[in-house]
Amino acid sequence: MSTHVAPSELQSTVPRASLDAISELVRDTRSVFDQGRTRPIEWRAAQLDALDRMIVEREAELLAALRTDLGKPEVEAYGAEVAVTRNEIKLLRKKLRSWTRERRVSTPMVMMPGKSTIVQEPLGVVLVIAPWNYPFQLSVTPIVGAIAAGNCVVVKPSEIAPATSAFLAKTLPQYLDQTAIRVVEGGVAETTKLLEERWDHIFYTGNGAVGRVVMQAAVKHLTPVTLELGGKSPVYIDSSADIDVAAKRIAFGKYYNAGQTCIAPDYALVHASVHDEFVAKVKAAIVEFYGDDPKASPDYCRIINERHHRRLAKLVIGGGAVVAGGVGDEAERYMPPTVLTGVTADHPVMGEEIFGPILPVMKVASLDEAVTFINARPKPLALYGFAEKSEITDTLIARTSSGSVCINHVIVQVTIESLPFGGVGESGMGAYHGRSSFDTFTHPKSVFRKPTFFDPSIAYPPYTAKKTSLVRKVL
Ligand code: NAD
Repeated sequence: MSTHVAPSELQSTVPRASLDAISELVRDTRSVFDQGRTRPIEWRAAQLDALDRMIVEREAELLAALRTDLGKPEVEAYGAEVAVTRNEIKLLRKKLRSWTRERRVSTPMVMMPGKSTIVQEPLGVVLVIAPWNYPFQLSVTPIVGAIAAGNCVVVKPSEIAPATSAFLAKTLPQYLDQTAIRVVEGGVAETTKLLEERWDHIFYTGNGAVGRVVMQAAVKHLTPVTLELGGKSPVYIDSSADIDVAAKRIAFGKYYNAGQTCIAPDYALVHASVHDEFVAKVKAAIVEFYGDDPKASPDYCRIINERHHRRLAKLVIGGGAVVAGGVGDEAERYMPPTVLTGVTADHPVMGEEIFGPILPVMKVASLDEAVTFINARPKPLALYGFAEKSEITDTLIARTSSGSVCINHVIVQVTIESLPFGGVGESGMGAYHGRSSFDTFTHPKSVFRKPTFFDPSIAYPPYTAKKTSLVRKVL
């Protein structure tokens, strides 16, 4: 199950691209790539510098767009959208020369004389399709990798975050080479049209239902895809855990962006011996973070739209005891930080990725029971464990499969650029961030250069007995 909302229910106000213009735009972009415009390192460096300058100079406008779309507090907009994206730009800019250099690798003696190298070849024209929850970062960070690797890019921001989509459509062309980096606004019709085109890579972030649509479209041209999907990311709280820290960190990660984070801890499996203490401390953390009335807190986000609010409200009332929060106020897209206890596996809140500020808490008798529960479900994008005993966390890491694991914290692993970011199984395929971003948009082309001055006849027919025996000796 996913958080997918049917296309007819989408509340889009973004300008639609003319469907006929899309083919032409893709054709033009491909001819720009074919002319070699994006290959020089100088071009890539200039684009990355311009992108960084854009973020610095237009930050106020960007933060305003994010506040319109999601009511994002400044700290969250700065941290998760501005800083994360700028850090990616800085790293790829710094590594540009070394990562793009043709790299010499060893050549077996029998192939001597000769030189083997790997050329870092751009893929070509890539399509980036972004979602609404971090609508700037998830549109722009893939572009950073694509530019560093020397590609042309067409990006389709999410129509569900129209203010940020409009910001990108207006601002990116003011700073970047708009013949090579294009923005197409729109919804399902535009994306469907884009997916009919031939691409050299499709980078999709969003729910698994559309992920399947993307992959199906990619089959037509055998286009490689990166699918950055979601799912239910569990958190296990062991009896040995520091419950004060666990409660605060889980409340932070769950209610950041009002839970609309792909790697947010989705549900908690808590050792029965610390269950009540954990629940009490999460409730206390909510009050500490957002006060007695989170609606009045400037630090708390809104739900993206009424449709998603209604979806979440059904999950709140669908089973379990509401011990904090509740359904909130649909008209204002407000849902308070919510905790449900007594939840069972058949409650609706456990049937789909929550993607909102609801924390269902379930008791488990042991780590073993938690692992069995996790492994009976699709592989999560992220997995969290709180324990002071390393044998517990090591077992959790060894016996489960997930895109990433973070021990004694949640969501922050995404900021570590040396860690590839991506899913496994139902949570996605491929990865990016840092070196992985560069590699995602690069073909490592094998090149073997052989001189002609040495050309023994042993390799050529007729295959005499002497040649056969020699070949058997040297190969
Ligand atoms: P969304 O509704 O904005 O959709 C994502 C993109 O898909 C949009 O650009 C949209 O126009 C396009 N789209 C929607 N329906 C389509 C269709 N029928 N055909 C073609 N394109 C279509 O965002 P969403 O999917 O609701 O995003 C939330 C999901 O994304 C959650 O599951 C979340 O976990 C996941 N997510 C994953 C990551 C990650 O990095 N792995 C990051 C953020 C969100």
